Amino acid sequence: MTGDAPVRADLAVAGGTILTPGGPVAATLLVDGGRVRETVPPGTPVRAAEVIDASGLHVMAGAIDLHVHFDVPGISFEDDFNAGTRGAAAGGVTFVVEHPFSDPPTTTAARYADKSARAAAGAVVDFGLWGALTGPSLREMAGQHALGAPGFKAFLPDNDMDFPPATEADLLTGMATAARLGARVLVHAEDRETIAVAETRLRARGRTDIAALLEARPPSAEIEAVRGVLEAARRTGCAVHLVHLSTPEAVDLVAQARAAGVDATCEVTAHHLLLDEDDLRRVGGFGVCAPPLRDAGRVAALWDRVRAGLVQAIVSDHCPYGRADKLKGSADVFACPFGIQSVQEYMPLVLSEALRRGVALTRIVPLFTEGPARVCGVDGSKGVLTPGMDADIVLLDLNRPWVISAERQQHAVERWSPYDGRACDVRVVRTLVRGRTVATGGDVVAPPGWGRFVPLSQEARCRS
Ligand SMILES: [Zn+2]
Repeated sequence: MTGDAPVRADLAVAGGTILTPGGPVAATLLVDGGRVRETVPPGTPVRAAEVIDASGLHVMAGAIDLHVHFDVPGISFEDDFNAGTRGAAAGGVTFVVEHPFSDPPTTTAARYADKSARAAAGAVVDFGLWGALTGPSLREMAGQHALGAPGFKAFLPDNDMDFPPATEADLLTGMATAARLGARVLVHAEDRETIAVAETRLRARGRTDIAALLEARPPSAEIEAVRGVLEAARRTGCAVHLVHLSTPEAVDLVAQARAAGVDATCEVTAHHLLLDEDDLRRVGGFGVCAPPLRDAGRVAALWDRVRAGLVQAIVSDHCPYGRADKLKGSADVFACPFGIQSVQEYMPLVLSEALRRGVALTRIVPLFTEGPARVCGVDGSKGVLTPGMDADIVLLDLNRPWVISAERQQHAVERWSPYDGRACDVRVVRTLVRGRTVATGGDVVAPPGWGRFVPLSQEARCRS
């Protein structure tokens, strides 16, 4: 700095407390050309084209949601990515990675290319796309990877979509291919056989009530499937990511595999941390998901794993199904689509709950930022607010209580939430993507198309 000449920048975020990997720091954040330039001590004279007053607020890198489904059946495509990313922007999420379990499923390179282009037209935050690992599409993996897929989703249980579950042979072949490409395999791990047998037995006895879901998909179905996936990863040398783990036992298996040298990561969803079996009975179809919500003891034990650093990411697993379809679940749980929409609320809700439970900010914030950035390979440009990184910024008020109301707040095409009526202490005040404000006070102010598709594979990054 020369004398008292003001520091110049495009944008200054002044007066706030910046959440850095080392802890909270009072500083002014300077942005140039959509990227973080530097942080300077509070009170440093600054001449910026735009100054945002962050007094009393915390300044966090934007949340990265590794697990969203925007492109579900029943909503037109651009609407879907626009509505989904609008919710993300309002909720402090600046980057999402969408899953291929869509209509039609992203199982080929051609569909991957088509989706990335069409989704970009509607997006208001940046995004990546996972590829798919299914038996019929094993030969399409390399093509998806070349277009930007950092990994491939495999689904073990049966599903009612056109997304064939991976057999053991499919998984081994796909993992060998992914290992060769330097990509990761993501697995929805619940044992197909266990679930099919239990569901048939329950239906035969006329059991289609909400609680039947818990009996059809017991914890053991997840735990045993995770054990098998980790063994396959060890045999093939493939990096593996276990999606939406709902049991502490499964998280422990991943931690043991990591300790034994397997490149294994895992994520937990907001709903498995915030809701339990009693909530499922209370909210009916709006709480139906797979794996299902678990008992209160397992929820507490899952928080212990978060506190112990055994989880790499917290995600929404956002599924914007129609209200009527979700309400069906209250009469016939097996007719209810699996999934909860929460991309707009999951980050403030989990931060709020973490603070109530005494989890340190330095422990919980990285599970929304650096942790997921590393899993999907966007850590070179997103996930922390250090010089050169994208200026994806969220201003948070950690002590501004509000109550969730899907009807009044959501940007979803169909508004519903299992969290309706729940109190939250943490509020997202403002969200910026690459230095531009995309949402303020819950309103979205960026046009469709501001969000960019980010190719995440090493191969695609080297080319661009
Ligand atoms: Zn999912």
